[in-house]
Amino acid sequence: MHSKTDAILSPADDLRYPWESHPGPEQVVEIAPGVLWIRLDLPFRLNHVNIYLLADGDGWAMVDTGFGNDATIQAWMTLFEGPLAGKPISRVIVTHAHPDHVGQAGWIVQRFACPFYMSQVEYLQGVYHQNRRTEERIVNSRLFYRRHGMDEAITEQLLGRGQDYLKKTVPLPAAYRRLSDGDDITIGTRTFRIITGAGHSPDQVMLYCAADGLFLSADQVLSKISPNVSVWAHEPDENSLGSYLRSLKSLADTLPDDVLVLPGHGVPFYGVKARIKQLSDHHEERCQMIAEACKDTAKTSAELVPVVFHKHKLDAHQTGFAAGELIAHVNHMLAQHRLTETLDPDGVLRFKAA
Ligand SMILES: [Zn+2]
Repeated sequence: MHSKTDAILSPADDLRYPWESHPGPEQVVEIAPGVLWIRLDLPFRLNHVNIYLLADGDGWAMVDTGFGNDATIQAWMTLFEGPLAGKPISRVIVTHAHPDHVGQAGWIVQRFACPFYMSQVEYLQGVYHQNRRTEERIVNSRLFYRRHGMDEAITEQLLGRGQDYLKKTVPLPAAYRRLSDGDDITIGTRTFRIITGAGHSPDQVMLYCAADGLFLSADQVLSKISPNVSVWAHEPDENSLGSYLRSLKSLADTLPDDVLVLPGHGVPFYGVKARIKQLSDHHEERCQMIAEACKDTAKTSAELVPVVFHKHKLDAHQTGFAAGELIAHVNHMLAQHRLTETLDPDGVLRFKAA
């Protein structure tokens, strides 16, 4: 899940993009020896997701699987009968439980009878998404949005969205193998270090091959969009932005600057440290906008959405992401004691700069 609400264009001298164009629908591009890049369509404004195949003995280890719709199955059939014919998928690794990444895991694992890898939290999160929209959870979400000052119409709009989205996953494989932060995993001739990070999703898996300078960043570090970092009704006080910023800092400390970043969306790039700085700065700018807006009068999250997202015309899908992202900034600023909150008699939370 991503906000397309903020396209950050990077100065050309900080980031380098070795591939000017991305693979077409039936194409496979080799970006390093034994590393293939495939791009699958998504039916959103963020219109694609990247899949990487890593040489793994006689087959390919697949990293992420695409969205859980028929079009993606058709795209895979074309690839399996075309450029990928003759070499099986040896295992499937999924970076996180969002449907554009985990969507076809069940189908591919069944087709190739291969092992399936996720982090424990992401696997359980996937199970959780498949059981969403129970009556209790809808009631809980409604209270959450009303408490943040969303009016009835917007709240119902937010509750309606996502119905089609997070469930767009074919049934998850019934068993998985666990990837944990700090593990090493051997894939073909390469060893990858597993790095996990929170913020965009609770325990997203990234793969780092130090020997070859390859970093599969999933959605944690994207080149031109800022990954969605939100708060959801099931954990209303979560400081997901704090977790995300901590993960970025740890990546900046861990990774050398010359790694080739292979992101979940967009095109591969060099310049990971510059990009991490831009992403961190971007969130700090938003915090400052919020602090400024709450300097004299206390405001609700609903009132703060247009302060931060004033440049954008938002549809329902984006309003949902914008609300969740706004609350992530508010919760982070509360944790940093930059805001104070009051629950007013109308049942709505209001925030004031500390
Ligand atoms: Zn994604």
